[in-house]
Amino acid sequence: MKNISETFSQLQQQIDICCQRHSRQARQVRLIAVSKTRAIADIEQVIAAGQRHFAENQVQEAIDKIEALRRYPLTWHFIGQIQSNKTPSIARYFQWVHSIDRLKIAQRLQQQRSVHLPPLNICLQVNLDNEPQKAGVAPEQVLPLAKQLLDLKQLRLRGLMAVPKARTDYQQQRQVFAKLRQLFDDLRQQGIAVDTLSMGMTNDWSAAIAEGATMLRIGSAIFGERQ
Ligand SMILES: *Cc1c(COP(=O)(O)O)cnc(C)c1O
Repeated sequence: MKNISETFSQLQQQIDICCQRHSRQARQVRLIAVSKTRAIADIEQVIAAGQRHFAENQVQEAIDKIEALRRYPLTWHFIGQIQSNKTPSIARYFQWVHSIDRLKIAQRLQQQRSVHLPPLNICLQVNLDNEPQKAGVAPEQVLPLAKQLLDLKQLRLRGLMAVPKARTDYQQQRQVFAKLRQLFDDLRQQGIAVDTLSMGMTNDWSAAIAEGATMLRIGSAIFGERQ
């Protein structure tokens, strides 16, 4: 049996080396372990190696895991498409939502997030490659939507997220991440205090680091191929 703890630690080392190469501080690049479809026992191996941030894309599957792993001090990130009827659970169980692309969903989360909890950290998902089947706002919608979210006090706009088309060429990977970086810089220029660029997965995380990612969302490189 393959040792997930070991694979995880090796990945973390590769990320640290990549950060050095691009003059990034390793603590400014947070690894989020994407645990969707993975068994509790596998997740516990990663926790044992020191990981605390996990991401899921199905609400019920996530709740089962969050409940089962309550004894650990974990932070949970939602990265999937959001159906309206799932917002109460998301508002209750998660600390981060990376996949906001509609005001209506944000308004529901605003209403449903308990005032006894800290504001929900959110990122806007951007559809960088203009893929019709994919979630995310068009690049030109980022600024108007971001401005509307600032009024929602139970939410805290942290930044931008994207899932670009899979590309194998490193320079092409960098080019598309540079677009997200530009949109992020534009928001900051407008005085919107974002600090999070959620980009980079198993096949493109090093390009994402080179372009300024602050959160990598990685599943397969930690847990192995998904079924
Ligand atoms: C599944 C998923 C990931 C992780 O993908 P890997 O290729 O397994 O690293 C990252 N982000 C989102 C939004 C995902 O759905």
